[in-house]
Amino acid sequence: MKTKCLIIGSGPAGYTAAIYASRANLNPVLYSGNQPGGQLTITTEVENFPGYPEGITGPELMDDLKRQAERFGADIRDGVVADIEVGTRPFRVKIDNGDELEADTIIVATGASARFLGLDDERRLWGMGVSACATCDGFFYRKKRVAVVGGGDTACEEALYLSNLAAKVYMIVRKDYLRASKVMQERVFAKENIEVLFNCNTVGLIGDDFVEGAKIVENKGTNEERHFDIDIDGFFLAIGHTPNTSFLNGKVELDEAGYVKTFGGTTATSVEGIFAAGDVADPRYQQAVSAAGMGCRAALDAEKYLAQL
Ligand code: NDP
Repeated sequence: MKTKCLIIGSGPAGYTAAIYASRANLNPVLYSGNQPGGQLTITTEVENFPGYPEGITGPELMDDLKRQAERFGADIRDGVVADIEVGTRPFRVKIDNGDELEADTIIVATGASARFLGLDDERRLWGMGVSACATCDGFFYRKKRVAVVGGGDTACEEALYLSNLAAKVYMIVRKDYLRASKVMQERVFAKENIEVLFNCNTVGLIGDDFVEGAKIVENKGTNEERHFDIDIDGFFLAIGHTPNTSFLNGKVELDEAGYVKTFGGTTATSVEGIFAAGDVADPRYQQAVSAAGMGCRAALDAEKYLAQL
């Protein structure tokens, strides 16, 4: 099978690229990846996507974008792209179910995944109290005690969500301030059952089969460290993301943090005919709306490239 335009990823960037590419008669094929709909499917309310004055839930927004892409004929498939051969034209692409296809252009919109602290205990107790998604797992912690690691908008959002379920929420923040936007900070500080532990790092988790506590070290920038434990049942990671670029196997140029590099103020990558959009290529903004905008640009760049062939 051959397509003029293969889109990899089904977040706002991928679906927007699909809407534009379909309307340009490129008959795009989109592979949805491990998490169809992307990261917004594991958030609650999205209040800052233009066009929704009352807000919308993440899953509803993604469903709308998907249906909009399908309306113009995008071929949206389940499956994960395993490998791309970049030395041939058209590109040869392998899907994890064994399927293969050829593509004249590729738009990489694979997003980013939640990051871990790197503690052995995190892996050991993953799914047993350790989570990276409050909206997925928060329900299990009703009237319990939980901790959220991180001081960004995601951490605040997770902490606020959990504060409506759990009896007590700790935020473990390594600096002496929150990086999150002012409005999120204010909401966090206004919640009586959220306690922010500034200048604190987690060095281990307590519990054999399930999280029972966390070992914390506080350091206010002096030589003195204070070691203490907190009793918790859930430990939620919200310390940012790692771009999903491992399947590219170094065939497309990445920056030092692993994000796809784009060139010349466009979505062009180091490989002619391959474009990138959304969080996978954007360490800076990482917003649904900026990802959607970049998906639009990638489809327009792909269309222009195809016209020159
Ligand atoms: P951020 O990179 O903004 O924040 C990550 C947080 O985790 C920081 O507080 C950082 O600390 C901390 N951190 C990173 N590594 C470690 C570590 N090893 N140990 C302890 N703490 C660590 O990521 P987010 O996921 O919060 O946000 C990503 C982007 O998405 C941002 O642009 C954000 O504004 C946006 N966003 C917007 C939302 C909204 O508008 N509703 C909701 C969610 C996200 P430090 O500050 O010290 O580096």
